[in-house]
Amino acid sequence: MSENVNVYGICRIAEQNFLESASRLKLEDSMVQRLINPKEKLEISLNPALSNGKTVHLKSFIVRHNSALGPCKGGIRFTGDVTMEDVQGLAMEMTWKTSLIGVPFGGGKSGIKYDQTGLGEVDKETIIRSFTRAAMRHIGPEIYVPAPDIGTNETDMGHIKDCIAYSWGKSTTDGCFVTGKPVILGGIEKRREATGRGVVYSTAAACKALGRDISQMRVAVQGFGNVGSAAAEIIAAEYGAKVIAVSDINGGVFNAEGLDIKSLIEYCKKTGGVTDFPGSENISGSELLETDCDILIPAATQSQITLSNCKSVKADIIAEGANAPTDPQADEVLSGSGKFIIPDILCNAGGVFVSYLEYTQETQREQMTGEMVCRRLKKRMESSFKEVYEYSNREKITMRQAAMDIAVKRVVEATKAMGALP
Ligand code: GLU
Repeated sequence: MSENVNVYGICRIAEQNFLESASRLKLEDSMVQRLINPKEKLEISLNPALSNGKTVHLKSFIVRHNSALGPCKGGIRFTGDVTMEDVQGLAMEMTWKTSLIGVPFGGGKSGIKYDQTGLGEVDKETIIRSFTRAAMRHIGPEIYVPAPDIGTNETDMGHIKDCIAYSWGKSTTDGCFVTGKPVILGGIEKRREATGRGVVYSTAAACKALGRDISQMRVAVQGFGNVGSAAAEIIAAEYGAKVIAVSDINGGVFNAEGLDIKSLIEYCKKTGGVTDFPGSENISGSELLETDCDILIPAATQSQITLSNCKSVKADIIAEGANAPTDPQADEVLSGSGKFIIPDILCNAGGVFVSYLEYTQETQREQMTGEMVCRRLKKRMESSFKEVYEYSNREKITMRQAAMDIAVKRVVEATKAMGALP
């Protein structure tokens, strides 16, 4: 087995998890084919002119995996190495995630393949607008509703809103065709931290179910972006857990007594990374995964816990903040050795749940306070956790298998309810 972290890739992980669920649920082959293949996938070339006067050529992707439960929902990944296959796997994950968390959306995802190193704000806006113009026919409140993902944020969603509203000749727009926008443009309070907050709520639910006191837990967080930093801050500030290790793309920091997360966030804003944070010891990315702790939150990217490193993971609760951070073979080893894994489609569903609140808020011209958003998010994360936990105990299967089976069953039921004829 190679040491390559991308041994599996998101698409293979998503497909394998689905095929295992399909076989447990004894789905007919025609249904398996219908659900494993995306409804639509599209590659769009972009040729934006950047501020240095040069035109760059780049590829973008949109996958609408399934819309049995509602319009396709999922973020825009904007990285130098995103592929059509990744977007396809991520779109499939969104189908199960939205189904599991019980929001009326299907699954979709998009990708912009461009390395953002050294890219200024104006040029980023140019690329986002170029993508939006080219993709506009495929975006809409009933078609595909994008949101932030790795490499995109609320500012980008603001540009998308403006670009589409302008083209439609409206200052305000009918319905919500993008979520994760700035609050002033119809976004919702607390959306930015929603995924990380949801990770913490599901981790707290897991601790409760397992009879562990969350305030006594030592936590390691891989990834200090939007998800990891919010999860680290909330689990420490609101639950009293000790975050002893955190890493980003360049390495990690450790302090057995607990890191001061608020100061670390400020430090990152100034220096661009966690390395050399005063009062901590530098560690490597792989040491982070092997930290002697109780809870590990992989919140970076896919295929981080692989067959080659999984045996060194010491935490006994793994809360998947990222999408597909654990390869299936590693998953088997970890589950077999009694680790409790809160699977991605459950653990990180808080982001899309709050996107759903934003969608309903905007279409109904309602306003929700941050407090209402957090309350609804907590309630939904707890009830979904309970549903998966009870199902997994009843059926004697893992949390991931239970989450997949519940989610797939709903999509199958909706597909059958629509009937076979067009
Ligand atoms: N990108 C997030 C995810 O992977 C959020 C998607 C959304 O809000 O549509 O779940």
